Amino acid sequence: MALSVLDLFSVGIGPSSSHTVGPMRAAKLFADGLKGDGQLASTVRVQSELFGSLGATGRGHGSDKAVVLGLQGLEPETVNTFTADDQVAAAALNAELHIAGSHRVDFNWEEDVVLHRRKSLPAHPNGMTFRALDHTGAVLSERSYYSIGGGFVVDGDAEGADKVVADDTVLPYPFATADELLQICSREGMSISDVMLANELTWHSEAELREKLLGLWAVMRECVENGCNAEGILPGGLKVPRRAPALFRTLTASAAASAEASAQAAAATPSPVQAPADPLLAMEWVNLFALAVNEENAAGGRIVTAPTNGAAGIVPAVLHYYVKFVPGADDDGVVRFLLAAAAVGILFKTNASISGAEVGCQGEVGSACSMAAAGLCEVLGGTPAQVENAAEVGIEHNLGLTCDPVGGLVQIPCIERNAIASVNAINAARLALHGDGSHKVSLDKAIKTMRDTGADMKTKYKETSRGGLAVNVIEC
Ligand code: SF4
Repeated sequence: MALSVLDLFSVGIGPSSSHTVGPMRAAKLFADGLKGDGQLASTVRVQSELFGSLGATGRGHGSDKAVVLGLQGLEPETVNTFTADDQVAAAALNAELHIAGSHRVDFNWEEDVVLHRRKSLPAHPNGMTFRALDHTGAVLSERSYYSIGGGFVVDGDAEGADKVVADDTVLPYPFATADELLQICSREGMSISDVMLANELTWHSEAELREKLLGLWAVMRECVENGCNAEGILPGGLKVPRRAPALFRTLTASAAASAEASAQAAAATPSPVQAPADPLLAMEWVNLFALAVNEENAAGGRIVTAPTNGAAGIVPAVLHYYVKFVPGADDDGVVRFLLAAAAVGILFKTNASISGAEVGCQGEVGSACSMAAAGLCEVLGGTPAQVENAAEVGIEHNLGLTCDPVGGLVQIPCIERNAIASVNAINAARLALHGDGSHKVSLDKAIKTMRDTGADMKTKYKETSRGGLAVNVIEC
């Protein structure tokens, strides 16, 4: 099995990679299958059933809407995020779907998209079954899929349906553990991003890869910009106000005032006594970047899944920190950051999980914090051992983190949690850079601990909104 950096980072739509992006992709796969098998013309009705965590929190995560869009041939990468809700509303109002973008069938929202709150499919908490019926009511086709986190979808009939999408590509430097990755770095004299790059060249040229990664970075920047400018209340009924725009105004005003004070100080004779700049200003900006992304995600905006939607703010926030506050930051560094972060993401995906429904929030925010710490450490000049150390610190202090979104919405605690984890990721990278890379708990052991802890975690703490904050905070 081989995973690419582009599997870990992809353009998607909010609010959830497993509950929005994955179901949209699965529904499109089913619709495309009907078309490819020549069954579309005979189809008069399509039914969708969502199980497990998808059934429990699917409404808040927009899974039902995602399925409607996917059946009509739309994809998370390209769907118009400004008109998607209107398209779904039109399908419900007109009681019709255009399967695979063309074939019209009758549609009854209540009967044709069913969310099972207490039933699950066997292989994974995020299961879906799609069914196409002909005019006699006979089943033309029925398929199940699993949305296994980060927007990954596997066919229910595929082997190892609870793990990964099979890709048999032979890589020059395969690694399944952090220990193997470090051995390759040591043996070949390569950095972690070098190893990832060498593997990536199996799929694309260096120029193509660079273009794609910088394209993802552009989407991240646009997402932050959108989040900084979009005022209002987030959808879903919790009435959570967006905080990024006000914070953005405060920080930009303070930056302007500080620049003016510096200019006046430079012109004054003798030099006046100057108030010291706020030493934690960079942290405030990091908070802003994360809030902006996650508020956009909660509003169903365009984001980069990194490695999931719920945790989509952390890698962009730390990357923004790198570009805004680290002298000498450039596009090469952005590319190396993403490659090193993806190497760590692959370890989580391969050896544990990046799905909140499977292992709790430690798999989403914890994995993203670890990835961002590794990426930053890499571009700050960390050795492979220091980068591994940074990644380990990034996950260690998120172990046991539960997933308990209030109201089934990716808002509380998700949005703020991304800001906190982004700051932690920077701290982890800097902590690792002060050492020589040697440390007691290896990244492999921390990932194994995360997997074991997730297995022991009660289902109510795994994206079902039946435990934790989700039951202790009154929705009003
Ligand atoms: S609590 Fe964590 S895992 Fe759960 S939806 Fe929010 S960000 Fe995702």
